[in-house]
Amino acid sequence: MSTDPLPPLRLEEARARMLAGVGALAAETVPLLDALERVLAEDVHARDTLPPWDDSAMDGYAVRAADTSAAQRDRPVVLRVVGEVAAGHTAAGSVEPGTAQRILTGAMLPPGADAVVRVEDTDAPAGTAALPERVAIHVPVGVGASIRVAGSDVRAGDLVAAAGTRLTAHRIGAMAAAGRAQVAVHRRPRVAVLATGDELVPPGTPLDGGRITDSSSSGVAAQVMDAGGVPVALGIAADDRGSIRDRLRAGIETADIVVVCGGVSLGAHDEVRPALDEVGRVDLWRVAIQPGKPLAFGRATSTDGRTVLLFGLPGNPVSSFVTFELFVRPVLHRMAGRSGAGGRTIIRARLTDPVSTDGARRAFQRVTLERGTDGGTQARLSGGQGSHVLSALLAANGLAIVPEGIAELPAGAEVEVMVLDDPGWPEEEG
Ligand code: AMP
Ligand code: MG
Repeated sequence: MSTDPLPPLRLEEARARMLAGVGALAAETVPLLDALERVLAEDVHARDTLPPWDDSAMDGYAVRAADTSAAQRDRPVVLRVVGEVAAGHTAAGSVEPGTAQRILTGAMLPPGADAVVRVEDTDAPAGTAALPERVAIHVPVGVGASIRVAGSDVRAGDLVAAAGTRLTAHRIGAMAAAGRAQVAVHRRPRVAVLATGDELVPPGTPLDGGRITDSSSSGVAAQVMDAGGVPVALGIAADDRGSIRDRLRAGIETADIVVVCGGVSLGAHDEVRPALDEVGRVDLWRVAIQPGKPLAFGRATSTDGRTVLLFGLPGNPVSSFVTFELFVRPVLHRMAGRSGAGGRTIIRARLTDPVSTDGARRAFQRVTLERGTDGGTQARLSGGQGSHVLSALLAANGLAIVPEGIAELPAGAEVEVMVLDDPGWPEEEG
């Protein structure tokens, strides 16, 4: 049992203390694809005007619009085809009255032309036919028809994306179009992860003699990557203060954050708190959440003078998962320059089962989200809610939040759910 005399902290209070003084990490310039999911540390301005010149939005014929004004389907206007301009080439000559040039999508408009007639509106075959001598135009077109005007998208020097923009996949191409092969983004936070416990063996090792697999540190390392950080494995330390301390020191020298899984309670073999005290300034808190035992948090200074955050999370895999989500993930987001308190979507859903909690702490229950018969979203408990129950975590795609002060919720009650794995749109019925 904790002997901490202070009442448990509210989640928001604990999180605010952890985030205090944390800012976005320094910028580094990286090749464009390495910037995926990272946050711009510079304003990106367009190098070029886009489109850079008037070009065709269609495959068709570049014409003078006035030449087509009398065109009808049964009485077409016939123009002499004097050339062709394909994408990536410049026109050989200009379009004079009574003439046309075949043009392909994205090709530069030849001088003299002020409109494009779509190939479908001519007698010319679409595709790779030989250049015809003449083309019959079946419909009149106005000036500017099927033309993408230079600068209609972006002008050289325009701000394309401001510092702070997250470079999701749908924004990377725009950086390339702005003329950038590299961009400045915030450095990824490095997170050293240490497992502690005499009972732990690495994944894949046969179990005997009371040993169990260290699953929490793999889970935490994956959460680090998912939150935009780079995990650094510190391995497994026995419940021995000296060995924990030495690995913590190694972590402090290489990482922005050190996360220790396990050993953070006040049990007879819980050596993490004293080891943390030897390497930094540490508080042990109780936070009013469930799961979530006492949680250690503090700061250390590396030999090169950097402030490194220290987190001691409970060792049970469900507890380490939930406490990482609630506390470490928001810090990683802040360091990576992302806005928001951790970036998980919160939705509302109806419980399919009654839920009971201890009432004193905010509870995070593993649930599976599903579509109800009324079309709304419902949340089904994905299994036992004990902190060691991996099967329920495995089946879950959300964490249902039961506020403090509420001990019982009936089936059908609406709750907020943090979405862990968005299943996306349902498959089309075919
Ligand atoms: P602790 O937080 O060290 O008191 O551990 C609480 C429970 O979680 C115990 O049953 C431990 O065996 C288990 N545990 C601790 N660390 C890990 C880990 N890295 N992976 C899996 N289980 C762990
Ligand atoms: Mg332990």
